[in-house]
Amino acid sequence: MKQSKLVVANWKMYLSTHDTSVLINRLNKKVPVYRNVEVVLSPSYLSLQPASMEIDRRKFRLAAQDGFYKDEGAFTGAVSYSQMRELVHYAIVGHSERRRFFNENLDEVRDKVAACVRNGITPILCVGETKQERNENETKQVLHDQIVTALSDLTSEDAEDLVLAYEPVWAIGAEEPAKPDTIKDAVDWMRYQVRELYGQKTESSIRVLYGGSDEPQYVSGIMEVDGVDGLLVGRASLNFEQFGDIITGVHLAALSKD
Ligand code: PEP
Repeated sequence: MKQSKLVVANWKMYLSTHDTSVLINRLNKKVPVYRNVEVVLSPSYLSLQPASMEIDRRKFRLAAQDGFYKDEGAFTGAVSYSQMRELVHYAIVGHSERRRFFNENLDEVRDKVAACVRNGITPILCVGETKQERNENETKQVLHDQIVTALSDLTSEDAEDLVLAYEPVWAIGAEEPAKPDTIKDAVDWMRYQVRELYGQKTESSIRVLYGGSDEPQYVSGIMEVDGVDGLLVGRASLNFEQFGDIITGVHLAALSKD
């Protein structure tokens, strides 16, 4: 069966627990139940527990923004996926901000993906090239290395539910998203990697998102790209009006493709 579209909000390190509750309340009211769109919210660790009681569960699920790859132990300051497994369905893994500011390397991302799967959490694996890598024609190599390493501990069964997000680093926090043609080339290449690793069946069961400066006016153009199943949204997801409009845009795009 064709999976529903997926829209993921990444709230990064922006909202206090109180502000998170206020935003959830507004989204509970603003967003209708769309059967063809799954909406996932990613508050900070601190807000996951209260958010799990505040979200309208007919409309929303939760994701962790990160996690540590060990399940338990003497790792001061860390939060493991096993500690979050009752709270979240998903976890964002390998976001470019983690790679850049926290020096996360390919192996660490691989271990986090494996830890998510081990704990029954679906990883949303973010991949994407920097501006310099694009200018030097390294986009395909970067996407290949990020995907192949991250998935190297997963069986095809593990990989079936996987979510990949194409997040070109140069389009995050930018004025506008990548152009649909650029997204199409990258997403085709990402899907090809998954096909090479696990075959056609797994490739068609995974969902691929686009992330980077999504706003309501760009949604239909991006969702028209073949192989794109949804969006990962940063800034615009902090505004309940804009995020609500993005969700509706994805719903309408899905209807028009049916
Ligand atoms: C992100 O950081 O994942 C992201 C998509 O951010 P923005 O929408 O703000 O570009």
